Amino acid sequence: MSSALVHNLIRPELLALHAYHVSDSSGMIKLDAMENPYHLPQFLKDEIAAIVADSEINRYPNPDPFELKEKIRQIEAVPEGCDVLLGNGSDELIQLLALALNRPGATLLSVEPSFVMYRMIATFVGMRYVGVPLGENFSLDIDAMLEAIRRERPALVFLAYPNNPTGNLFSANHIRQIIAASPGLVVIDEAYYAFASDSFMKYIADYPNLLVMRTFSKLGMAGLRLGFLAGSTDWLDELEKLRLPYNVGVLPQRVVEVLLENHGILLQQAGQIRKDRAVLYKQLSAIAEVYPSEANFLLFRMENAASVFNSLKARGMLIKNLSGAHAMLENCLRVTVGTPLECQKFIEALQESIV
Ligand code: PMP
Repeated sequence: MSSALVHNLIRPELLALHAYHVSDSSGMIKLDAMENPYHLPQFLKDEIAAIVADSEINRYPNPDPFELKEKIRQIEAVPEGCDVLLGNGSDELIQLLALALNRPGATLLSVEPSFVMYRMIATFVGMRYVGVPLGENFSLDIDAMLEAIRRERPALVFLAYPNNPTGNLFSANHIRQIIAASPGLVVIDEAYYAFASDSFMKYIADYPNLLVMRTFSKLGMAGLRLGFLAGSTDWLDELEKLRLPYNVGVLPQRVVEVLLENHGILLQQAGQIRKDRAVLYKQLSAIAEVYPSEANFLLFRMENAASVFNSLKARGMLIKNLSGAHAMLENCLRVTVGTPLECQKFIEALQESIV
């Protein structure tokens, strides 16, 4: 009875969707979600505990935390004259952008395989979505992209740099061609910037249709939910109107500020992860076809990936099974770079899973 009511009232495209799947990870070694595996030093934990205890959680958060934004502008080298807009994770910013640009008939364009939330959020907000297949070795198929941009005139283009789930950086030259050819806004999603050798942040003042989006999730703050968009105030002032006034809570605001004051610790952890990525890449290459990565995870392909995934899971090791997610990801698995011990246990469990 109530189910019929729900089915009659909820939009059909939402009824057809599967919710974003988050696996139960209790008791597992968790290498599925690109989290930073490291803890904070005790002095910093103590400092955070004191700040949390002292926070006015009975009050609404500061709707426009100027000092936090100023710190982000400095630390992230946001070019002079540009500003930042804060989101409850960068997922929220993708949604905010889609809401803002979804004029009647507008299109959101991205590549595939890429971050699934671009397509999902387009569906959430009722925006037309076009996914252009990647080329060889998951590089941009620049001819197909330029053709799609001419044909579709997308209001909004998302490119993840590095890309998830493939881990590679696209050609910067190709991205510049895409920005120049796009009649709409191009957002470079730099969720994995801390592990990559390049960024588009330095270009945001050069192009009127470019924004860079980043998140602190992969840098050790996934639980705090803070992402930001960097770009010209022309864009950000308009987008700001759509931001819900208290989207970033009192505790995330204060804790992120302390963590950014100790940014060096997080960068050191990211540096360690980059080193461990190289070790894991080498070890994994002896077992599977591994793709080069500039992120904190590795994509690899091997026979019977689904049963390997299940066997790893039975051994207490949670990674991500991408087989079936896209035709180009047949037999692909993705593993987050954990601590050296976690990586070693992963390789051992993988060896056991293939015999
Ligand atoms: N962009 C990309 C490319 C991602 O992989 C992710 C997380 N998996 C996000 C954005 C969202 O990150 P968050 O909402 O935690 O900021």
